[in-house]
Amino acid sequence: MTTRFENGIVVTLEPKNQVLWNGSVVTAGENIVAVGDATEMKKRFPDAEAIDCTGKIVLPGFICAHHHFYSTMARGMAIPGEPASNFVETLERLWWKVDRALSKEDITLSAQIPLIECIRTGTTAVIDHHASPGIRDGSLDLIEYAVRQAGIRASLCYEVSDRNVMGGGVEENERFIKKIGKGDGQIAAMMGLHASFTLSDETLEKCVGIAKDAGVGCHVHVAEDLADREDSVKKYGIPTVHRLDKMGVTGERSLFIHCVHIDESEMDLIAATKTSVVHNPESNMNNAVGVTPLFGLLKRNILVGLGSDGMSSDMLSQMRCAYLLHRLANRDPRVAFLEAPKLLLKNNAEICERQFGIRLGEIAEGHPADLAIIDYQPPTLLNEANFLGHLIFGLVDATVDTTVCRGKILMQGKKILALDEERIAARSRELAPRMWQRLAAL
Ligand SMILES: [Zn+2]
Repeated sequence: MTTRFENGIVVTLEPKNQVLWNGSVVTAGENIVAVGDATEMKKRFPDAEAIDCTGKIVLPGFICAHHHFYSTMARGMAIPGEPASNFVETLERLWWKVDRALSKEDITLSAQIPLIECIRTGTTAVIDHHASPGIRDGSLDLIEYAVRQAGIRASLCYEVSDRNVMGGGVEENERFIKKIGKGDGQIAAMMGLHASFTLSDETLEKCVGIAKDAGVGCHVHVAEDLADREDSVKKYGIPTVHRLDKMGVTGERSLFIHCVHIDESEMDLIAATKTSVVHNPESNMNNAVGVTPLFGLLKRNILVGLGSDGMSSDMLSQMRCAYLLHRLANRDPRVAFLEAPKLLLKNNAEICERQFGIRLGEIAEGHPADLAIIDYQPPTLLNEANFLGHLIFGLVDATVDTTVCRGKILMQGKKILALDEERIAARSRELAPRMWQRLAAL
């Protein structure tokens, strides 16, 4: 089926970014087959179904490079006991209980809800990091099912940790990596690792062996809090990145999440091994762990992407958070205007290319038909030169009207077509109190 998304302002984001007023994006099957002037495209593709995008801006679908679907049911939950006073306490009192309390149905619902939120905010690809030590085996299949039902793309993994049982989750990753193989462009698999401070050398060795044999990367939290760095220095005599590199975790396909507490030598090592970093500014602020040395990483040409770490599925808001955080942290209003959008729009696409083997993030002939179509009437001129100003100060607060992934319309006129949002939220409200009860007993 051929579709013309026409009469909107198309922003292509390809290397020579073009802004086409009264533009048209023509899709057939899973791909874009033509981009250009609406009148011209109508002549070339007269039989295509027409979707009117007047008053809207058409962008490539957004990508979240680090998410935790499983965190959904913690929303609004009262945490028993005193408030956590540091990051490790937050893990112990909250997240390491949430993951253990999840039932099978909770895992599915916990994925479906952020998937709906992804569609609502134009996010069409996610790299997720899952944990459910109560139900490890088959948990990634439950999430895969939810992702396929929703219709977006996701790279999935299970976070291996020795915190509950030695090597917990290794088999689940191994099984799922084998099942997915090279992938079909919709689902990819990685080796998930929690973090250096909950992983022994023995477990790391096993995981890296499986990842290398399968040709996949590792997805691991790195020096999110100072505690991870201190643990590595104390137990192994070297900081986190050096330890992970020694164990073979670094590499072109691996994702190092956060990298807040790393020094210059660790940045050099990340650059030398071509490992990617994913920055999660909103989560770092929420957990009060510190500020990632973003400019030190970018100066070394390290591929730094942007994630939400489970805080939200809205990637434009994460982008603006990165923009604001680094201006404040550096007390310099000259910085981050170019860098924050680059993490989201360009670098996340490059990270995904290493996962899915396809180039996302660009509206161009032959590219995947993943689109975010947003209500936006520019109050001033909008062109190639000032697009970022509109992105940071306008589009970030605009509403997504239509979301397309793999050529399929997942939301139109703000109505989610792929999933029954009301029923899913109602069922989640029904199950959440039981999950909270199980958690309180842990
Ligand atoms: Zn995370």
